[in-house]
Amino acid sequence: MRYGYVAIYLVLAAALGVCSFVARRSGRAIGPSVAALLAALIPPVVGNLIIIGFKNPSVSVIGCYIYYLGMDLVMYTLMQFTFQYCHLSWPNRGIKLFVYGLLLADTVQLLLNPVFGHAFRTEMVLYQGEQFLKMQPLAGQTFHRIVNYGLLFVSMAIFAWKSIRSPKFYSERYTGVLIAMVLGTVWESYYIFSRIPVDRSMVGFAGFGLLIFYFSLYYRPFRLLDRMLANIAEGMPEAIFFFDAGGTCIWANQAGLAMTGLKKQTIEQADERVQPLVGGNFRKMEEWEGRRQTGEGESRRYYVLKNRVLKDRKGRVDGSVLSVRDETEEQTDLQKQRYIARHDALTGLYMKEYLYDQIRARLAERPDQKSVVVFLNVNDFKIVNDVFGNEFGDQALQQVARWLQKVMPRDALYGRLGGDTFGVFLPREEFNEAAIEDSLTHFTVGTEGKQHPVLIHLGVYEVAEHGLDPSIMFDRARLALATIKEEYQTHIAWYDDQMREKVLWEQHISNQLEEAIAQRQIRPYLQPLVDHEGKVVGAEALVRWIHPTHGFLSPARFIPVFEKNGMIAEVDRYMWRCACEILASWKETFPDLFISVNISPKDFYFMDVAAEIKKVVAEHGIEPSKLRVEITETVMMTDLEKRLGILNDLKEMGFLVEMDDFGSGYSSLNLLKDMPVDVIKIDMMFLQKTKNRSRADLILQGVMEMSKNLGLPTITEGVETQDQYRMLRDMGCKVFQGYYFAKPMPVEEFEEKYSPAA
Ligand code: C2E
Ligand code: CA
Ligand code: CA
Repeated sequence: MRYGYVAIYLVLAAALGVCSFVARRSGRAIGPSVAALLAALIPPVVGNLIIIGFKNPSVSVIGCYIYYLGMDLVMYTLMQFTFQYCHLSWPNRGIKLFVYGLLLADTVQLLLNPVFGHAFRTEMVLYQGEQFLKMQPLAGQTFHRIVNYGLLFVSMAIFAWKSIRSPKFYSERYTGVLIAMVLGTVWESYYIFSRIPVDRSMVGFAGFGLLIFYFSLYYRPFRLLDRMLANIAEGMPEAIFFFDAGGTCIWANQAGLAMTGLKKQTIEQADERVQPLVGGNFRKMEEWEGRRQTGEGESRRYYVLKNRVLKDRKGRVDGSVLSVRDETEEQTDLQKQRYIARHDALTGLYMKEYLYDQIRARLAERPDQKSVVVFLNVNDFKIVNDVFGNEFGDQALQQVARWLQKVMPRDALYGRLGGDTFGVFLPREEFNEAAIEDSLTHFTVGTEGKQHPVLIHLGVYEVAEHGLDPSIMFDRARLALATIKEEYQTHIAWYDDQMREKVLWEQHISNQLEEAIAQRQIRPYLQPLVDHEGKVVGAEALVRWIHPTHGFLSPARFIPVFEKNGMIAEVDRYMWRCACEILASWKETFPDLFISVNISPKDFYFMDVAAEIKKVVAEHGIEPSKLRVEITETVMMTDLEKRLGILNDLKEMGFLVEMDDFGSGYSSLNLLKDMPVDVIKIDMMFLQKTKNRSRADLILQGVMEMSKNLGLPTITEGVETQDQYRMLRDMGCKVFQGYYFAKPMPVEEFEEKYSPAA
């Protein structure tokens, strides 16, 4: 029996040592306190071991001291541990000093026992046939017990209080320690009152130490975790259903109950409620994901489903979890946003990109269908906006959209391409040109009673190449628009490939203009102007482009292009400079000749014509009267006052202004009398072949007479025969220009031909 206890104590001491070591190395905050407490429990265990293990009383008695002093150490470390474990601090320094003072005093009085013999006495007793050392407690030991038990009860009280006050799942960690303490204490008390000589109380205390080790370092409140996880699952927005391995629903969260209309008690019926949502056969023990929709129209709902199978470590199925997320709101939001992104807010029609997408899809879907692409433009919409206000402008666009919806066939695709332009894509045979043309003739917008006519033009491209992108198809349809001009009878124009070639040509030469000027591919030709005696009095500078690849280009090929895009200003500026250079070089050879240059009506938009001409003349030291400027009547069609001012300026500076192409346009004789022009240049149209020659001659005669009355000399251009020359001379014309005398020619040729020396 003696050695049985010795063995138990040895094992306990070793276990305490190992656990203390582990606690210290655990890296946990509580680790060192636990390690200290376990280490402190080793001396009392060893003390008891000595008491029991040695038959020699004087050796055994040493064990008594180790035991008692060790217990003081245990109490000290227990206090430390208790406060840390329970997250408490000493109420004040005084109490702390008092407690530790008591322990110190006890240690001291015990150490004095050999001197005073006041703490305990030892005697050998016989128990079950063996000699054991037994202590007889005296006053000192009573003090020791009061101190030790006192502190033990303080500690227990703290744990008891904590386990009552803490939330349910946390109190376990206090209750556990408390129970360990109670067990240890009961065991100890049993010994004290049992008069059994062998002190087995240390088994209780050592066990208590090991339990503390477990609770402080390894215990996790699993139920707490369960509870937390369950709480989270409970509150999740998606519906969650747990099925056991047999496929019975065992739990659902709030959302799941709400979705199925079940209660926790009836949750087993979840199966049949979930089934219609899941669709098909409900594969509970398989992992899968999917989306489902239920209902129609307003009550349509969207769900995302996910089934997960839960398995244990060995791969055996524990059960499964089905989660169902209702994403109806997101889906409807998304659809709303998509709708907004695809539809024009003002008209409700598709926006350009979406229309293009739809057309691409249609083209892919019906590759053999003959289709047309229509580009619709509201003419002068800016003016509608300016005159009637933006609100009216918006209304007008909405009405155009409604008109489109009305006149276009059901399977037409249409949308708003931009500000005042719309696009339509429809089968060729469904494009009822006559009906649309008809409805456009009387197209008006506005509110009741206040209707305003609006001019709408359609450019139509018949889809010939399916591979083209819709954007290019609409570009082509738009090209056709340009051919309609300001007409009120025709509203629809069809694209043909020449239009495209024209545009390509325009782009081609526009890109080359700068270089052409720099390289003098563009240069003036001169055509002589002759008086009634056949003497050359001047020349008109006419532009030519000797193109490196296209060869000789007449102005008709490029002037209209540059007039359209404004580059004409570059050409004219350059031509005026050339004319001035020529005049400057003629100071000796042709001192009396003048040169006429052309001014395009478009020049006035892009530069200060008067200032520009003045500058170039000054730079070359030319007398202004030597440079004549030719303008046409169209110059006066816009900005009349301002343009009159410019002409007056030119006249005051000493330039002669010629009215070119007189009679070709809407000549206004009334305007002519107020215009600061010096010469009238009669258009060659009057000399052209006509059925009624005599009538044309009469008109010519009239124009001549009228100019005479206005005191304006005339030049006639396009003189091709001697007869014409004679007739015009007889009518009183002063100066003549035409192939009869010479065609326009390069400057050198002109100089050679008309050199005074020749
Ligand atoms: P325009 O100013 O009326 O020029 C007279 C046109 O009539 C010239 O054509 C000339 O070659 C042609 N012509 C002259 N005599 C006869 C004739 O007896 N019979 C016939 N059938 N034609 C004759 P061109 O050079 O082709 O110029 C055409 C038009 O291009 C010019 O008409 C003018 O409006 C414009 N243009 C020419 N050069 C310039 C320029 O440097 N700047 C601007 N802005 N326009 C220019
Ligand atoms: Ca001219
Ligand atoms: Ca002319």
